[in-house]
Amino acid sequence: MQKKKWANLPPDNTICQMSQYIKNLKAPIAVVGMGKSGDAAKRLLIASGIRPTDILTFDGKLDSADFKDANKLMSEGKPETLVVSPGVPLSSTWIKNAQLQGVTITSEISLACSCLSTEKLIGVTGSVGKSTTVSLLQAGLEAFSKTGFVGGNLGTPFSTYAADVVEKKRPVADWVVLELSSYQLENCAGLELDYSAITYFTSNHLERYDSIEHYYQTKWNILGITKKAMLLNSEGGDLIEYSKGKAPTPQLKIISKHDQNLQSFQLQKAQLIGQHNQDNLALATALCKEAGWPASAVEGMKEFKGLSHRLENLGFIKGVRFINDSKATAMDSVIIAATAAVDTLTDGGSLFLLLGGRDKNLPWEQLAVLSKMNRSEFVFFGECREIAQKKSGLPGQSHAKLDEAIEYILSKVKPTDTVLLSPGGTSWDEFKSFEDRGDFFKRKVTEFSTL
Ligand code: ADP
Repeated sequence: MQKKKWANLPPDNTICQMSQYIKNLKAPIAVVGMGKSGDAAKRLLIASGIRPTDILTFDGKLDSADFKDANKLMSEGKPETLVVSPGVPLSSTWIKNAQLQGVTITSEISLACSCLSTEKLIGVTGSVGKSTTVSLLQAGLEAFSKTGFVGGNLGTPFSTYAADVVEKKRPVADWVVLELSSYQLENCAGLELDYSAITYFTSNHLERYDSIEHYYQTKWNILGITKKAMLLNSEGGDLIEYSKGKAPTPQLKIISKHDQNLQSFQLQKAQLIGQHNQDNLALATALCKEAGWPASAVEGMKEFKGLSHRLENLGFIKGVRFINDSKATAMDSVIIAATAAVDTLTDGGSLFLLLGGRDKNLPWEQLAVLSKMNRSEFVFFGECREIAQKKSGLPGQSHAKLDEAIEYILSKVKPTDTVLLSPGGTSWDEFKSFEDRGDFFKRKVTEFSTL
């Protein structure tokens, strides 16, 4: 959506606000962490009138940054403001010390927020399901909005949007949909959302939190910055149980794919497969309804086929469904994908599941549960094919290369069957990346269509 040409827009879409907040920041301003969001923050600072000579860059790993050592940054650069990227923990001793000495701590999100004018905002957080839900909302937004922006933790940083608006390279968006990680929610002063959603709570990312409670609370803080409604996925792991311990507020709504008022949308006809994705879709649909988006938005979301290489529905070729889940390199992901694929089988159809790649001492034995799946054939491939098969105890053919394994399957498939690449192992035995492996699978599928 961000790449659109901004022609034929009404005049009110040229509103642009220079940020007083940014102008008032005390220099020198150090951008801490020069990844995508750090770069975007620096660009927005300059677009908002900060002199490049007043900006310092810090990155512990990048030679191109002005400072690689935090002590040197503080003693030689003497910054008065730190724009801290989400990848850098606020609990770092040097950042805490800087704060005690009166240095202002802000973030790329806060900088962007200070440039907003008429945009309405939706924020999505959660341990898993964020990118899928945000991508669904993007598909919904694309169905009716000419100016909407989707980004944040996923895709384009929020500050890139703000810099584009300030530099008049794009119009002000009617809707902004942000994926928000817990790290971003720790440091987002000024962010006010019209609507928000939490997809799922599970104990990931504990490396940066001292307890699960702390981690969940950081995400739950999204409620405090939500003005109208915050929606929770009823199937969101620990989420509902956690919410029960919190004071009830009128903004909170629990959403289930079984809700009567969602039935007319026929979400089960969506392209995205899997029950967990039905939960994501129900949440996104309920957000659409709350936000007053037109019905075309939900229809747009139903057409979304999934993020590339993540349970990506490639559709039917000669009656056979192909699903590319090349990113799956954890046993949990394989089990979720296989269960979702079996769910979609119609009468008489069988599932062919491609398993293998390179081992990273994976607990393949966890895949033993798949032996209970009816109408499934397992096909092993790649460097770890023997160990994967031995540990999982699953029956099936084994091939040295992914190519041979696919050829074997293509020689056997019949209409109503499903072929799923959800390998479990990494791609590095045969490919550069999981994307490369997924693209290879897609090419084979295209070839099959021309045979
Ligand atoms: P995130 O952006 O939060 O990391 P994604 O949307 O990319 O999450 O999904 C990552 C994985 O999490 C998916 O491949 C799927 O296995 C799992 N997942 C996604 N949504 C849900 C959900 N609603 N419930 C359970 N698991 C989910």
